[in-house]
Amino acid sequence: MPHLSAPSWIPKDSTRPAHAKIVATLGPASDSDEMLEKLIEAGVSVFRLNFSHGSLEDMDKRLTKVRRAIDNSGRCIATLGDLQGPKMRVCKVPDIHEDGGIMLNKGDQVYFRKGQGDAAIVDGSPSFDVTFDPFYEDVLPGQRVLINDGLIRMLAVEQEKGKWLRCQVTAGGKVTSSKGVNLPDSELDMPAITERDWKCAKWACEHGLDYLALSFVRTADEILELKAKLDEWKCPGQQPGDSDMGTSIPVVAKIEMPQAITNLDSIIHATDAIMVARGDLGVEMDVAQVPIIQKYILAKCSALGKPCIVATQMLETMIESITPTRAEASDVANAVLDGCDAVMLSGETAVGAHPRVVVETMQRIIKVTESRMDQIVHSSGLPTDMKEYPFRSAALAKGVWHMADQLNAKAIVVWSQAGGMARYLSQFDFRVPIYGYTSSKMAANRMALYGGVTPIFTQPPETGRLRDWTNQVENLIRAEGITKDGDAVLLVAGKPLGALLAQSTVSILRMGDASSGFRELITK
Ligand code: ATP
Ligand code: MG
Ligand code: MG
Repeated sequence: MPHLSAPSWIPKDSTRPAHAKIVATLGPASDSDEMLEKLIEAGVSVFRLNFSHGSLEDMDKRLTKVRRAIDNSGRCIATLGDLQGPKMRVCKVPDIHEDGGIMLNKGDQVYFRKGQGDAAIVDGSPSFDVTFDPFYEDVLPGQRVLINDGLIRMLAVEQEKGKWLRCQVTAGGKVTSSKGVNLPDSELDMPAITERDWKCAKWACEHGLDYLALSFVRTADEILELKAKLDEWKCPGQQPGDSDMGTSIPVVAKIEMPQAITNLDSIIHATDAIMVARGDLGVEMDVAQVPIIQKYILAKCSALGKPCIVATQMLETMIESITPTRAEASDVANAVLDGCDAVMLSGETAVGAHPRVVVETMQRIIKVTESRMDQIVHSSGLPTDMKEYPFRSAALAKGVWHMADQLNAKAIVVWSQAGGMARYLSQFDFRVPIYGYTSSKMAANRMALYGGVTPIFTQPPETGRLRDWTNQVENLIRAEGITKDGDAVLLVAGKPLGALLAQSTVSILRMGDASSGFRELITK
């Protein structure tokens, strides 16, 4: 254990932007204009629209509101659509019991009846329906039926094939509308991307979402199939120079199936970003394996230089409670220490009682953890496999990393028009804030997911001269309050700035020294 000074401190670097970003799921608890404004203020970088809950008309309304709130804030914030994939869910559950939904107790008999639709009490027993009919063919007596990420558990006892299934509850709990159903013992024939997913993906394209997540990924081919379709559709709002990740929405692969762990390398190569989706992962696999799998995925993503989000139950008890458990606070901190790009909130912000407090709490845990992080973990720095990076960009990023280290630079500022250079630098795990400039709104929004990157959407200086941009940068860094005179800041200027004929120009800015003209130029 490296030496750690006594923790009787207030974080030193609290003015510094957080490295790890916060993804917040939208839902009834966070849909109002006031709440959206508060969540942005508290530090949300990415808003997640989960296609599992609500119709596309609901998504239309939600997106309009969130876009308005983002515009009003003047910040660059990404929107992420989450395709539910082949996930079975219970149909609508009316509030039959006092606390809402239907309460199940250990030992209860429960029926599932095909075609029933809304849940009800039939002949004294709770009776549900699910969203995929193969359930009534393929779940056999003796197999497990798990609801709500495995919280509620039952055993199938008797069936009339194609019609109904009777189960006995082995672990009780409250069932509410659209809770997920997992069938770890059954083999169901379901497509990787359902008809509804395709509809939602099309909608995401048409509405220019910044990211699209795919659930239950098992192979790289599923990602490629989705990407091919997205390329065909294209985002109507996207200009050719908006992204270095192709002409369509970047895809986030949700890792929650055992097969995805087996195929992890090829999936990471095929996708644009990764999510450790611990909800279903903890049901599809032994929950004891989840922590180590999380670390394994984060390490792989670091080695391959792909952004990674850690998701599910991070501050779960705050759905009701005003403070997190100590275990939850540690969980967020550990994800940060393991080098994730973002931590995610699900029900906490979608349906919880205190969405704003949850985001503030998460932000505080991130900042305090990061303020002492360099004393606990020593960043391994460079991704070991840079095949994903264009050759020159990899060389440049590597050079910048070494310069920042040698000069003890306090910030890296990059003009990254399509966002690529900002992403590469971000994945080098600099523990130095990166400011990513672009005049593409879409590229700026996408940068919001990248760990350590503060996106800045602005026009390049009219002169196109590096010197004028340098002055602009110096003013920004000064306003951020993260440097003192004499500190070094590295500037990486891609097109349209920088030296003529150079791919990128790297310069060292000494704060307070602009007038004396001390500036070294290295042109690659
Ligand atoms: P996934 O497997 O994609 O994570 P999920 O069902 O776990 O899907 P989350 O987005 O993780 O959904 O949210 C956690 C819980 O919060 C959901 O199970 C649901 O009960 C509730 N919830 C989330 N979003 C909404 C919404 N828009 N409307 C109603 N309830 C929602
Ligand atoms: Mg979830
Ligand atoms: Mg899931």
